[in-house]
Amino acid sequence: MNEEKRNLSLGGHVGFDSLPDQLVSKSVTQGFSFNILCVGETGIGKSTLMNTLFNTTFETEEASHYENAVRLRPRTYDLQESNVHLKLTIVDAVGFGDQINKDESYRPVVDYIDTQFENYLQEELKIRRSLFNYHDTRIHVCLYFITPTGHSLKSLDLVTMKKLDSKVNIIPIIAKADTISKSELHKFKIKIMSELVSNGVQIYQFPTDDEAVAEINSVMNAHLPFAVVGSTEEVKVGNKLVRARQYPWGVVQVENESHCDFVKLREMLIRVNMEDLREQTHTRHYELYRRCKLEEMGFKDTDPDSQPFSLQETYETKRKEFLGELQKKEEEMRQMFVNKVKETESELKEKERELHEKFEHLKRIHQEEKRKVEEKRRELEEEMNAFNKRKLAVETLQSQSLQATSQQPLKKDKDKKNRSVITGNQSGVSLSNSKVMITKANVEPLNCSSWWHAIQCCSCLVKNATWREGFI
Ligand code: GDP
Repeated sequence: MNEEKRNLSLGGHVGFDSLPDQLVSKSVTQGFSFNILCVGETGIGKSTLMNTLFNTTFETEEASHYENAVRLRPRTYDLQESNVHLKLTIVDAVGFGDQINKDESYRPVVDYIDTQFENYLQEELKIRRSLFNYHDTRIHVCLYFITPTGHSLKSLDLVTMKKLDSKVNIIPIIAKADTISKSELHKFKIKIMSELVSNGVQIYQFPTDDEAVAEINSVMNAHLPFAVVGSTEEVKVGNKLVRARQYPWGVVQVENESHCDFVKLREMLIRVNMEDLREQTHTRHYELYRRCKLEEMGFKDTDPDSQPFSLQETYETKRKEFLGELQKKEEEMRQMFVNKVKETESELKEKERELHEKFEHLKRIHQEEKRKVEEKRRELEEEMNAFNKRKLAVETLQSQSLQATSQQPLKKDKDKKNRSVITGNQSGVSLSNSKVMITKANVEPLNCSSWWHAIQCCSCLVKNATWREGFI
């Protein structure tokens, strides 16, 4: 293992000094991808700055202030400069800071970054992976737009940056720097940096380990956060057309370093540190995500005895754990099902008992009703019998009266006054020479107009008649 390496001198030219050139040529053929995430309130100048940075016009529609939640909108463009192809993705956090409750504003941003890491990890874990032509969508840099208030950072900014700093390279920038005075801007920058430090927010530091860029990068680190102005408008200054913002009192030139830090941002982001941003994303942020994810899945580098961990063993352990959990879940579900069945069964039994009670109650009511109806029927029958008897008596009376009338035709008129006499006031009375009188009668004449006719008529009803001696 500790075998000493020997230095050999070559006898002539071999050719491996062209290795860097080979790498360059391969990379150029392959092309590059660079993904920028813009986080900041709607209308802070994100789209304008992107157009200004890449000196083009990306298609963007004006964002509304009425989004229900923050949503990430990625747009990918193919750019070419000389013979270098760049697949540029600009992701806009639409609706950021527009909601009344901003507690969860950072979450969609964090989720988006994690999803891109997850996609890459899944590609890496594939048996047949094609990372060579995989479109890497991992976010390489997050430009965090700060409102030029001149006061301090908003809590939304601090919370969001804190949540993002372990996942992405953050470069804070003060937007619309032309709206704040030079002295205020200076104080504002110092305030922001001290707030970031005191809240433990780690922003991206331009690397100083590469000699070629160490000096410029350390100078630029002192200028953070960059105060930028964006504009795609061209204004004539002297005899040159420059990108600027024109005001009644003067012109703010985007690329004038005494007006704003736009040039510093472009230099640092694109010309000097683009590759470092890509590398940091892979080696720092993605590695952290991958490690956490694999540990979550149960993979480790060493076992508790500090022995190298076998993938096979991890797989077996995980499989057993998974099967055990599955069995436990199955058992729980079965138990739940049994309990549910028991519950339903007892509910049904209770319902059945209630129904039975109801039925018994109805049955009792029905029997009571039946008994009452029977009683009524018996009473009615008795009444009918009494009536029939009375009817018979009346009929007898009538026929005797008719007989008497036919024997004394001449005395007909007189007889009307001196009627035959019935003694007694009960039904079934016999005819005598006495006079008879019905003092109280309930006559229901069906065919007759007077009760006398009714008495004579067998289809009319005479009820509750009280018979007394006297004239009718
Ligand atoms: P976004 O919603 O964050 O993408 O904001 P936009 O880029 O659409 O810009 C919103 C408005 O701010 C537009 O009217 C821009 O012209 C203006 N704007 C953009 N950048 C600047 C700047 O640096 N200074 C000033 N004063 N206005 C700017």
